[in-house]
Amino acid sequence: MDADVVVIGAGAMGLSTALHCALSGRSVVVLERHTPGSQASGRAAGLFKSVQADELRTRLARRSITRAATFTEWAGTPLAVASSGSFLIARTPQHREYLEHELAQSRRWGADVREATPAQLAERLSYYSPAGDDFALWCPEDVYIEEPVSLIQACMAACQRLGAVVAEHEPVVGIPVTAGRVVGVETERRSITAPVVVDAAGGWVRQVAELAGASVPVAPVRHQLLITAPTTQVRPGDPIARVVDAAVYLRPARGGLMVGGFEPEPLALDPRDQAASFSTDELPLDLGVLRHMTAQVTHEVPVASTAPVAEHRGGLFTMSPDGRFVAGPAPDLPGLWVASGCNGSGFSSSLAIGEALATWITTGAAPAGLAALSPGRFGPLPDDALVSRGLWQYTHYYDPVTSAA
Ligand SMILES: Cc1cc2nc3c(=O)[nH]c(=O)nc-3n(C[C@H](O)[C@H](O)[C@H](O)COP(=O)(O)OP(=O)(O)OC[C@H]3O[C@@H](n4cnc5c(N)ncnc54)[C@H](O)[C@@H]3O)c2cc1C
Repeated sequence: MDADVVVIGAGAMGLSTALHCALSGRSVVVLERHTPGSQASGRAAGLFKSVQADELRTRLARRSITRAATFTEWAGTPLAVASSGSFLIARTPQHREYLEHELAQSRRWGADVREATPAQLAERLSYYSPAGDDFALWCPEDVYIEEPVSLIQACMAACQRLGAVVAEHEPVVGIPVTAGRVVGVETERRSITAPVVVDAAGGWVRQVAELAGASVPVAPVRHQLLITAPTTQVRPGDPIARVVDAAVYLRPARGGLMVGGFEPEPLALDPRDQAASFSTDELPLDLGVLRHMTAQVTHEVPVASTAPVAEHRGGLFTMSPDGRFVAGPAPDLPGLWVASGCNGSGFSSSLAIGEALATWITTGAAPAGLAALSPGRFGPLPDDALVSRGLWQYTHYYDPVTSAA
């Protein structure tokens, strides 16, 4: 045996799982097709959100916030986290009702969430001018990581300190199965034997699972954001704001403002339909989508529309049919594990998901509630149903309560 655990993909999910397995004393090899964090994780907004649609996601999100804030203590390498807090804002009666519902349920699940007045919004957010009838929640637990790649670098450094190997520019091209179980991986350079292989290949998770004859129920969907040029209209230490009726999020970034959001007609893009070499650099971006979003908040956040764009980036979300993570052992294929189904929260929940998966892998027992995230929970699902349900989850990221999916 060459390793106790092989992880495919050095994004946030793969590296967190690798780090937590290494912390449990396992020998770990991470294989990355490009460079660590180069696909979805390094392009994320870096936002952590304590208010979630169900109790399990709330628990994972809050655990991740704690793990990020205390990273240096338990991982032994530094990680800068902005303890900004966040506002959730609703400008329509329907979305106000939705936030009131979220306030009640999130409190029940242990999150610290409070009602905020328009005056508090005006005072705390330099870049947001409330109309006066905005309904807002204040979420003091929420944080962000200014440059998402710093989480990747911190996990890498901690992995290396613990002796885990992270190999870049080494795609996995085969997952051999012997006597009904996964026994390792093959790259173009070598074979590595391991009793545990974790598929954390992000937007490529399905094609990687298919190397072993397994199926993962996620649909990759494009997501984009922009960062404006530095401007005096944004105070650097300000909180995050999420305008839920516009499905837009905002935060200070690099002296300017970051603006991202959930487009009403999202683009599903399956790397399996692209050239084998497809990477996020080739994902078609559309600034018009973000311009449409900034127009929706232009009265409250004029700087989002007027400041020059300094960066426009995007990548792939892995959407699942029910909006929940897809994490755990692959059904009917011992040895293969999946860390995916991020649904737009994979960066921020990676520290909790990786911790939970490592516990499951090393003890054989699923941590409380985790079995509900099983990759096998949907049974067979045709691709068009998978995509349409994934798209529905994407467009309802901020209001899943109206779910019919
Ligand atoms: C613009 C944008 C903003 C976002 N904002 C947030 C946010 O604020 N908060 C949040 O929680 N989430 C956010 N997300 C989502 C988040 O980025 C993802 O959920 C998360 O990064 C997924 O991590 P991952 O490790 O699964 O995927 P990735 O980071 O994509 O990593 C998967 C890795 O697997 C590698 N790989 C693929 N195939 C192979 C192979 N055959 N062999 C070896 N390696 C392989 C890839 O090269 C890649 O590096 C955002 C995403 C985008 C695009």
